[in-house]
Amino acid sequence: MTERDPLHRCLVCSCEFVHLVETRPISDSDLSALLRCPNCGVHRAGVFSRRALAGLERRRQVGEDELRVQLRRLELGNRVDEIGDFAAALDADAILPEDF
Ligand SMILES: [Zn+2]
Repeated sequence: MTERDPLHRCLVCSCEFVHLVETRPISDSDLSALLRCPNCGVHRAGVFSRRALAGLERRRQVGEDELRVQLRRLELGNRVDEIGDFAAALDADAILPEDF
Protein backbone atom coordinates (compact mmCIF):
# COMPACT_ATOMS: atom_id res chain seq x y z
CA MET A 1 0.00 0.00 0.00
CA THR A 2 1.24 3.49 -0.84
CA GLU A 3 -0.24 6.96 -0.60
CA ARG A 4 -1.36 6.52 -4.22
CA ASP A 5 -2.76 3.09 -3.42
CA PRO A 6 -4.95 3.54 -0.33
CA LEU A 7 -6.94 0.55 0.84
CA HIS A 8 -10.30 2.30 0.51
CA ARG A 9 -9.83 2.86 -3.26
CA CYS A 10 -10.47 0.04 -5.71
CA LEU A 11 -7.45 -0.74 -7.87
CA VAL A 12 -9.73 -1.61 -10.81
CA CYS A 13 -12.49 1.02 -10.89
CA SER A 14 -11.21 3.63 -8.37
CA CYS A 15 -14.40 3.39 -6.30
CA GLU A 16 -13.63 4.76 -2.85
CA PHE A 17 -15.84 2.41 -0.85
CA VAL A 18 -13.74 -0.74 -0.70
CA HIS A 19 -14.52 -2.60 2.49
CA LEU A 20 -13.05 -5.31 4.63
CA VAL A 21 -14.47 -8.81 4.20
CA GLU A 22 -12.30 -10.88 6.50
CA THR A 23 -9.00 -10.87 8.32
CA ARG A 24 -6.60 -13.41 9.73
CA PRO A 25 -3.78 -12.56 12.13
CA ILE A 26 -0.30 -12.90 10.69
CA SER A 27 1.74 -11.16 13.35
CA ASP A 28 1.36 -8.59 16.11
CA SER A 29 1.43 -5.82 13.52
CA ASP A 30 -0.03 -7.39 10.38
CA LEU A 31 -3.16 -9.14 9.21
CA SER A 32 -3.96 -11.12 6.13
CA ALA A 33 -7.05 -9.43 4.75
CA LEU A 34 -9.61 -9.81 2.01
CA LEU A 35 -11.09 -6.57 0.71
CA ARG A 36 -14.00 -6.13 -1.69
CA CYS A 37 -15.12 -3.33 -3.96
CA PRO A 38 -18.91 -2.88 -3.79
CA ASN A 39 -18.92 -1.20 -7.22
CA CYS A 40 -17.20 -3.75 -9.46
CA GLY A 41 -17.10 -6.72 -7.07
CA VAL A 42 -13.36 -7.27 -7.37
CA HIS A 43 -11.61 -8.75 -4.35
CA ARG A 44 -8.16 -7.83 -3.16
CA ALA A 45 -6.19 -10.10 -0.84
CA GLY A 46 -3.00 -9.15 0.90
CA VAL A 47 -1.11 -8.61 4.09
CA PHE A 48 -1.69 -5.18 5.56
CA SER A 49 -0.75 -3.47 8.78
CA ARG A 50 -3.33 -3.45 11.56
CA ARG A 51 -3.01 0.31 11.55
CA ALA A 52 -3.92 0.57 7.85
CA LEU A 53 -6.88 -1.76 8.29
CA ALA A 54 -8.03 0.18 11.35
CA GLY A 55 -7.95 3.31 9.19
CA LEU A 56 -10.07 1.54 6.57
CA GLU A 57 -12.60 0.57 9.25
CA ARG A 58 -12.68 4.11 10.65
CA ARG A 59 -13.32 5.44 7.16
CA ARG A 60 -16.14 2.91 6.68
CA GLN A 61 -17.69 3.92 9.99
CA VAL A 62 -17.55 7.63 9.09
CA GLY A 63 -19.20 6.86 5.74
CA GLU A 64 -21.88 4.78 7.44
CA ASP A 65 -22.55 7.58 9.93
CA GLU A 66 -22.83 10.08 7.05
CA LEU A 67 -25.32 7.82 5.28
CA ARG A 68 -27.43 7.57 8.45
CA VAL A 69 -27.51 11.37 8.72
CA GLN A 70 -28.49 11.72 5.04
CA LEU A 71 -31.21 9.08 5.44
CA ARG A 72 -32.59 10.85 8.51
CA ARG A 73 -32.65 14.16 6.59
CA LEU A 74 -34.53 12.51 3.73
CA GLU A 75 -37.04 10.95 6.15
CA LEU A 76 -37.62 14.29 7.85
CA GLY A 77 -37.98 16.03 4.48
CA ASN A 78 -40.55 13.48 3.42
CA ARG A 79 -42.49 13.96 6.66
CA VAL A 80 -42.50 17.74 6.16
CA ASP A 81 -43.82 17.23 2.62
CA GLU A 82 -46.54 14.87 3.88
CA ILE A 83 -47.60 17.34 6.57
CA GLY A 84 -47.70 20.14 3.98
CA ASP A 85 -49.82 18.00 1.65
CA PHE A 86 -52.17 17.09 4.50
CA ALA A 87 -52.51 20.74 5.56
CA ALA A 88 -53.26 21.75 1.94
CA ALA A 89 -55.89 19.02 1.71
CA LEU A 90 -57.47 20.22 4.97
CA ASP A 91 -57.53 23.80 3.65
CA ALA A 92 -59.21 22.60 0.45
CA ASP A 93 -61.79 20.59 2.45
CA ALA A 94 -60.59 17.57 0.53
CA ILE A 95 -60.45 15.31 3.58
CA LEU A 96 -63.69 13.68 4.59
CA PRO A 97 -64.58 11.64 7.70
CA GLU A 98 -64.82 8.50 5.57
CA ASP A 99 -61.13 8.94 4.64
CA PHE A 100 -60.30 7.58 8.10
ZN1 LIG B 1 -14.03 -1.60 -8.11
